[in-house]
Formats: sequence, C-alpha cells, structure tokens
Amino acid sequence: MMSRATDIIGRAVEDKADSLQELSGKIWSHPELCFQEKFAHDTLTEFLEKNGFEVERKYKVDTAFKAVFRQGSGGANIGLICEYDALPDIGHACGHNLIAESGAAAAIGLRAALEASPATSGTVTLFGTPAEEGGGGKIHLINAGAFADIDVCLMVHPAAMNMLAPGCLSCIDGHAVFTGKAAHASAAPWDGINALDAVINAYTALSTLRQQIHTDWRVMAVITEGGVKPNIIPERAALEFDLRTPTDKELAVLKGKLAAIMKAAALATGCEVELKFTIEDRVSDYSNMIANKQLLERYHHHWLSFGPADSTLTPDRFWASTDMGNVSLEVPSIHPTFIIGTAAEVHTRDFVETTNQPKAHAATRCVSKAMAAVGWDVLTDSALLKEIKESFQQQLVTLQVMIV
Ligand SMILES: [Zn+2]
Ligand SMILES: [Zn+2]
Repeated sequence: MMSRATDIIGRAVEDKADSLQELSGKIWSHPELCFQEKFAHDTLTEFLEKNGFEVERKYKVDTAFKAVFRQGSGGANIGLICEYDALPDIGHACGHNLIAESGAAAAIGLRAALEASPATSGTVTLFGTPAEEGGGGKIHLINAGAFADIDVCLMVHPAAMNMLAPGCLSCIDGHAVFTGKAAHASAAPWDGINALDAVINAYTALSTLRQQIHTDWRVMAVITEGGVKPNIIPERAALEFDLRTPTDKELAVLKGKLAAIMKAAALATGCEVELKFTIEDRVSDYSNMIANKQLLERYHHHWLSFGPADSTLTPDRFWASTDMGNVSLEVPSIHPTFIIGTAAEVHTRDFVETTNQPKAHAATRCVSKAMAAVGWDVLTDSALLKEIKESFQQQLVTLQVMIV
C-alpha cells in the first residue's frame, strides 16, 4: 500500500514523464565523451532550472553541476546522481542518458514530497557528475569537498539484470612501454634488442598469472604497439592493462605481481621498461563499492511497490567498476542496477538501442520513484539515518580504510 508521500512522488514523476523522456533522448542523440559533456551539462542544467532548482553550473569541474532544493532549516541532505558521458564509437551503450534522467526524476519526486509537507526540513542535492567512463568525475568532486555535507547518496544504473548491490571492483589501469634496439632483422638480427618479444613475454606471463589468482580478481591487457615492419627488430612495444579486485588492499597485491612480470619480461629480453599507472599516488583509480544495507532495503521495498515491469532479482555478483565506489567510501550510498528490457549487457550495440526506448524510460521512472521514496524515509526518520550512519562506519572499519 502506498503512503501519501510515495503517492505524491509517483504522481510528480509521472506528470513529468514526457519531458524526462525528451531530456534523456536529447542526451542519447548527442553522445559526448569524458569531460566534453557540454551539451548534456547545458541541457540538464536548463531543465533543472526550469523545474525550480537552484543550479550551480560548472560546479568544480567544467561539465559538472549541482542542483539544490532546500526547505526549512536543518534536516538531512539527500545526494542524487546524474551521469551523462558516453562511449567512443558506440554512444550511450552504458545508458548514462537514463542515469541523467533518473537523477532528475528522483530529485523532482523528492522535492514534490517535501513541498507537500511544509513542516519537514531537508535538502535535495542533485550532482551532475561527468566522466564516469574513465575520467573519474566523482573523484574530482570528492577531492573538492562536494560530498562533505551530504548524508546519503543514491544512484542507479541500467543493466541486463536487476541487482541490488552489484559488486563494483576496485580498479586501476596503466601501460608498460618496452624499449629495445632496432636492427636489420635479416642482415644483423644479433645486433637488435626485440621489444616485441618483451611485450609478448609480458602478455603471456599475465595470462598464466590468471591461474593462480582469486576468481574475482581481473587482469586485462591489450598490446597497443608491436613494431612497424618485420625486417626491423622492433625497438618499441607497449601494452595497456586494467587490473580489478574486490578491494584496494587486494589491488595493491595484484599491482605488485604485475610490476614483477613487467620487470621480468624486460630482463629476459634485455629491454628497458617504463611502467605507469594512470594515477600514481593512489592504490586505485576507482574504489570498490560498499552498498549501505538499510538504504538498499528501503530501495527494494519502494521499488517493488512502484511496480517494475520485471522485478526478478539476480543475486549480487561482481559486475563492473565505477567512481560511485569512491563516493560510497565517503557517504552511505547505493548503486543498484535495473533491467530496461534487453538481455544485452552494457557496452554493447543492442544495449545502446534499448536505452532510448519507451520501456527503458518507464523502468527508469520506476527506479527514480524508489530513490525519491528512500530519500523521503531518510528525511523523515532520524532513527533510520542514525542506523544508516552506524552501519556505514562499521563497513569502513571492516574494509580497513579507516582506523577507529
Ligand atoms: Zn560503462
Ligand atoms: Zn556506466
């Protein structure tokens, strides 16, 4: 049975269904890469301003924004997330146009519930977070203090299945460049030092390493340079890698193994190697996600009550990596995935086609209402917020990212 607040949220989001779908469709038709999301930034901020939010454009990052609705003084501050960057060549194959739509819809729903209850104090803060596909937009915002006054943070991600707490792995990427010595490969091969051999040794050793690592660790690599002509001993060869593990602690171990392999490949062939991680001063690019139990329970309850077209839950398993993981170490957060009507997974061409279909927008409205309803619970139940914060602290201790 719906409460009055959830009823108001449901109606507020449905009233805006057409304009939300149009908003999302515009972003879908105009895919932009990491940190170049000018069109999405302008379209979203204009939409939110029109809908009565106080908008700060270019918030700490050129293509980020913050949209706020505040009522009364004090009360909790509910963080919501819009993502809107796309992928090279295949556009919105991660469905971030739907994440933009979900953030805007949830903010509108929660705001409507607040306005219908003038005695309730609280804040809705919707962040526009660019560059999820590799740029770590949320990390820039965290470092600039954007989440300091946020009590909880909610976002959802479209996918092939409904998972409440998909495992989001801690990850880092980087590259190794091997330098040898060019020589005529027929006239004087003994004068050369073969950088391609070094990179092949490294790739093979990474592949065999997979046999002796935990099943939920990931080692990915592609060879990006391997010489230019068969009759020249390659003097330069390179590979790019991507390492992922359930926690930063494990990632540090895996990074050590990778470094040893790169050194060994260089030593075996007489090459020099330059090993570079994208972010040198951190263990990971993206941290693992810790989902808050109480927020998830409330989300699941509300989502079911709003009647999703497909409510089949898939047991949580490791899925991908996200900079929402970094946010989840700052404030209690959730990042459930939701079905949009295709069996295809994210980053595929089938998925991109579905992300602008009416069934995907309907599924997005349903999860948006659930997020708004969770926000409402937090705003109106201080005991719940206390419990959420306590379990968050416990999770941090378990993760050993904080010493108490
Ligand atoms: Zn993606
Ligand atoms: Zn994504």
